[in-house]
Amino acid sequence: MNARTQTQRDPVCGMTVSDGAHTTVYHGVTFHFCSAQCLAHFLEAPALFAGAVRGEDIRAMPKRRLLRIATGAALDETCRRLQAMMGVSAIRAEADRLHIDYDLRRVSLSQIEAEIQAAGIVLKGGLHALRRSL
Ligand SMILES: [Zn+2]
Repeated sequence: MNARTQTQRDPVCGMTVSDGAHTTVYHGVTFHFCSAQCLAHFLEAPALFAGAVRGEDIRAMPKRRLLRIATGAALDETCRRLQAMMGVSAIRAEADRLHIDYDLRRVSLSQIEAEIQAAGIVLKGGLHALRRSL
């Protein structure tokens, strides 16, 4: 009996994963993920997530951030893309500011910023300035 491979719980979001499309090996243990986003988030801080293989270990970590926009006009598109991301609970655009509520358990600020930049928005401060901030 191999309990390890039968318990395919995504350690980031807690979903039960039935296929092996997104996996990684950390300290000899194979972890399964529901999406590329969860896998990328795990790889940002594997030690934070590796112990959370049981459902009771999965707890929300609500965060709120204000991002300032330097340039870029695609705000509606950006809001749509962010709302489609797992872990983003609310987003409000106002002049040159984006107010974002998210669950650090499921998504990091650097992932959110990468999505904003992919939509054509440049943020004040830039990605590297906030890199250390999850
Ligand atoms: Zn997931």
